[in-house]
Amino acid sequence: MFLEELNNQILKCEKCALCEMRKNVVPGEGSSNAKIMFIGEGPGKNEDEQGRPFIGAAGKLLDKLIALIGLTRKDIYIANVVKCRPPENRDPLPEEVEACRPWLDQQIEIIKPKLIILLGRHSMDRFLPNQKISLDHGKPKRLNGQVYFPIYHPAAALYRNGLLEDLEKDFKKIPKVLELIEKSGVKNKEKKIEQVKQVKLGI
Ligand code: URA
Repeated sequence: MFLEELNNQILKCEKCALCEMRKNVVPGEGSSNAKIMFIGEGPGKNEDEQGRPFIGAAGKLLDKLIALIGLTRKDIYIANVVKCRPPENRDPLPEEVEACRPWLDQQIEIIKPKLIILLGRHSMDRFLPNQKISLDHGKPKRLNGQVYFPIYHPAAALYRNGLLEDLEKDFKKIPKVLELIEKSGVKNKEKKIEQVKQVKLGI
């Protein structure tokens, strides 16, 4: 299936109660050939109004950080753990994350990113449960052949002193992490990766 077809299905989703409150579904946007996929938590007010991910204040910071590593939104793909806005920007409920799970899984399956950047705690929990963002940000992890790179959510860096510095530092590691993945062939899609294990890339 093509990404556009999948996203058209996502636009009609009624698998959880968030569909009753949304103005727009926010499937995601960017290149279907992206090597790097960013995954946030869920749409906020601006995103709900326009149907596009990360277009508010956190999105402006994300754009600056993406530019810092010489990329634009056209080079990457940006999606969220849940595709519809939780009311009052509350945390997504476990059942909402579950309802949205197949959509995000299928997007990843189609895009086949070499590197998935997990923006914040909720995104990290979805892929790497039992980790702590304060301890594990900036450390790439390989799980089932996919490399994940958890970093602070840009919204957190806007509101909490000191996090921006960490976020910028982690962001600057992204090109190096990608280079290491490409060199080592970590994401070899034909090869079965032996076991569920986490490997530090040692940077
Ligand atoms: N925060 C997110 O996690 N995702 C968005 O799309 C916007 C803000």
